[in-house]
Amino acid sequence: MKSILDVDVMQRYIRMCDDGWLQGWHERNGGNLSYRMKPEEAEQCRPFFCTPGEWVPMGVTGQNLAGEYFITTGSGKYFRNVILDPVHSIGIVEINEEGNAWRIVWGLEDGGKPTSEFPTHFMNHSIRSAATGGACRVIYHAHIPNLIAMTYTLPLTDKAFSRALWKSATECPVVFPDGVGVVPWMVPGGTQIALATSKLMEKYDAAVWAHHGAFCSGPDFDTTFGLMHTIEKAAEIYNLVMSSGQGQVRQTITDDNLRAIAKEFGVVLNEEFLE
Ligand SMILES: [Zn+2]
Repeated sequence: MKSILDVDVMQRYIRMCDDGWLQGWHERNGGNLSYRMKPEEAEQCRPFFCTPGEWVPMGVTGQNLAGEYFITTGSGKYFRNVILDPVHSIGIVEINEEGNAWRIVWGLEDGGKPTSEFPTHFMNHSIRSAATGGACRVIYHAHIPNLIAMTYTLPLTDKAFSRALWKSATECPVVFPDGVGVVPWMVPGGTQIALATSKLMEKYDAAVWAHHGAFCSGPDFDTTFGLMHTIEKAAEIYNLVMSSGQGQVRQTITDDNLRAIAKEFGVVLNEEFLE
């Protein structure tokens, strides 16, 4: 391999960034993506690593992620530019043995830093990795417009959003049977929103940020992007129904229909949200 950009995992990471841009979810520097590398993927990339930068404390600790490597988008960087200029837009960071600091080992050239949401991503990686026996590897934040619009019209509860999305498209209860969590409006980039999100991610693999966007997690790029895409499409249908029907719904997927879908597809729906 001549370049780190020939390594399969780097190509798939960059493709996901570009897919998000093409969906219109990443205006300006909006959104961020992090991926916890498999050991063999880190080894494939290691020949291209630079002299490591300084350790930078995160303010949060994830002991179960000590020594791991993450690919991450950069702070203030544009998803639009990831495919055009990867070395300045994304990077690989190594986590220290205490699980509380990162250092850059590739990319983010000329003074770049990981996304300002990296502590939030890192805490969510720590919790999702523990909750899934190490399967979860991807955390993705996007500004998905239809879901954001729903946060102006629906009560900001896990139940209201999970039910509305499940009933907006038949595939939804199969794709996210646990439902989604909802974080009320908060200032982004801080510890408070990191804690609130990670608390929800103990139960769900997706969280709504009111008037802002969504966080999704998953074992690989396809599953995680697919989850974001499914949620946004369901939200679009919800908004179309509400606007075209002026709030009147003639018929919908009933709770018993939801139970029937779950039975047929062998998933366990979160009963807390059913009536
Ligand atoms: Zn955002």
